[in-house]
Amino acid sequence: MGKFVKQSIYLPDEAATESLAREIVDALPEDISGWIVLLQGDLGAGKSTLARGMIRAFGYEDSVPSPTYTLIEPYEIQDNLIYHVDLYRISSLDELQYLGWKDLEDGLCIIEWPERVPGLSARADIIVSLGYEAAARVAEIRSLSDRGADIIVRLNLK
Ligand code: ADP
Ligand code: MG
Repeated sequence: MGKFVKQSIYLPDEAATESLAREIVDALPEDISGWIVLLQGDLGAGKSTLARGMIRAFGYEDSVPSPTYTLIEPYEIQDNLIYHVDLYRISSLDELQYLGWKDLEDGLCIIEWPERVPGLSARADIIVSLGYEAAARVAEIRSLSDRGADIIVRLNLK
């Protein structure tokens, strides 16, 4: 499997994270069902900001609440289904199955705290790792599948 990575994507402010979100969405295919995007990083690194930016890039204009307590927030945007997932309170694939994980295959899953469920990266397409750099953030995007590699190649970054 070809692995592709884009490193040191500098995100000076929240707007930069939102524009990275838009670039990722633009690089995705028309049919996003079954796609899995993982968002890794410490508290406050910008995972929810990136997820919200992606959901908005699909044309959603209402508020995008954090799934911290609901664990899964579904969105239906025209023909697209998106599931914003937060695994902070989950600790195994079993618990995830119990939550109806199988039912999420008809949409794009954007998943925060993926490291909480070992084995998840084997099923995912790309992982975005976010870190702090003083007041700014820095991102790295890595492919986890062949079709994920296509996305990295297609990304249009400044
Ligand atoms: P997480 O979901 O990783 O805990 P959030 O997206 O909820 O993080 O919060 C990120 C916080 O950091 C927000 O308050 C946001 O305004 C701030 N911030 C500062 N710079 C950035 C940046 N470049 N990208 C994203 N958030 C940033
Ligand atoms: Mg969050």
